[in-house]
Amino acid sequence: MRTIELNKRQEQILEIVKVQGPITGEQIADQLDLTRATLRPDLAILTMSGFLDARPRVGYFYSGKNGTQLLGEQMKKLQVKDYQSIPVVVDENVSVYDAICTMFLEDVGTLFVVNAHALLVGVLSRKDLLRASIGQQDLSSVPVHIIMTRMPNITVCRKEDYLVDVSQLLIDKQIDALPVVKEGEKGLEVIGRLTKTSITKAFVELSHTE
Ligand code: ADP
Repeated sequence: MRTIELNKRQEQILEIVKVQGPITGEQIADQLDLTRATLRPDLAILTMSGFLDARPRVGYFYSGKNGTQLLGEQMKKLQVKDYQSIPVVVDENVSVYDAICTMFLEDVGTLFVVNAHALLVGVLSRKDLLRASIGQQDLSSVPVHIIMTRMPNITVCRKEDYLVDVSQLLIDKQIDALPVVKEGEKGLEVIGRLTKTSITKAFVELSHTE
């Protein structure tokens, strides 16, 4: 966690060491077109505050602490578009029975409901379908638009959104999935699906990066 604000030159030094470390003070000074003496206070600050480690005759390199910081930075860059999966949609007039079959066949936990213009009108979760099933009704004669969670109460995301922000939405709203949408002329088109599984995949992938 950063406790002090770095100035522009210190940020530049950090960038250089990040990419090229271990690197000597002279080499850093050369790249910034400055003298070693001019850089000395900045290097001292970066070393004392724990951003950099210095070893005699080896040079400067990132400390272990900054590995955590780097990981945080990497995580914040992850975007929905790289982790979204294919959405499974049903028409608003299909029956609850058919929606249950679709959920099993497609092996998903959330279905997105669209109207005749293929625009998002609702969401169906496992429990929505279970709830409808424990009633008395004939499930083949109840259309899903009767039981779904409907617009405008649907939480959506866009492919450029950051995964951490979307994860926070999943937590705050206590839901398992979000439709990835894009603006159509008359409403929202569903172009993807972002679920807790997508986030789990991103988490595992991050553990493989250095
Ligand atoms: P489950 O109901 O199977 O536990 P969820 O936690 O995802 O699954 O859903 C909880 C409730 O929130 C359900 O009624 C569902 O319709 C609704 N819901 C699910 N996803 C969304 C969403 N993206 N936006 C709004 N409501 C949603």
